[in-house]
Amino acid sequence: MILHICCAPCGGGCVERLKENGEETVLFYSNSNLNSQEEFERRLACVRQLAEAQQIKLAVDPYDHESWLRAVEGYENEPEQGERCRRCFNFSLSRTALFAEGENFCTTLTVSPRKRSKVIFEIGSEWNNFVPEDFKKRDGYRRSCEIARQSGFYRQNYCGCEFSLRDSGGNDANDLS
Ligand code: SF4
Repeated sequence: MILHICCAPCGGGCVERLKENGEETVLFYSNSNLNSQEEFERRLACVRQLAEAQQIKLAVDPYDHESWLRAVEGYENEPEQGERCRRCFNFSLSRTALFAEGENFCTTLTVSPRKRSKVIFEIGSEWNNFVPEDFKKRDGYRRSCEIARQSGFYRQNYCGCEFSLRDSGGNDANDLS
């Protein structure tokens, strides 16, 4: 299973769930939605930590924020959970589908209570090999937070793009350790 991963704090519980399901997992870090290369590297460092701790492979999609900005153009002022986010999900899932080359894939995006799994599944249904795994079920979000705390993962308190940072009031970091 290819697991599209947005950040380690979301990913910990998802990796555990897939292991429980008996899935062999490869992480695919694709995060061109992030507002800066620095933030991309910061989140990647914790994803690497998670991959090493779980002894699973990690592939990294190069940061390409210009392409992402073109994908959400005209929707910059949408509130979170609106059309901008739908396009953002589509962008990352498209890149994951390309990477997966027909292998099954799913995404950590469904673990967040701020992201509607139904919308993610609608987008994912475009690909036959997308698996609608709803990681927030069975207390998945709480478990991910618990693992993040135990592992000391850097946890941001905005979703990722400059528009979410703007709407969070510019407060970007929240250390859970
Ligand atoms: S708020 Fe999050 S999901 Fe929505 S567009 Fe920004 S990075 Fe993507």
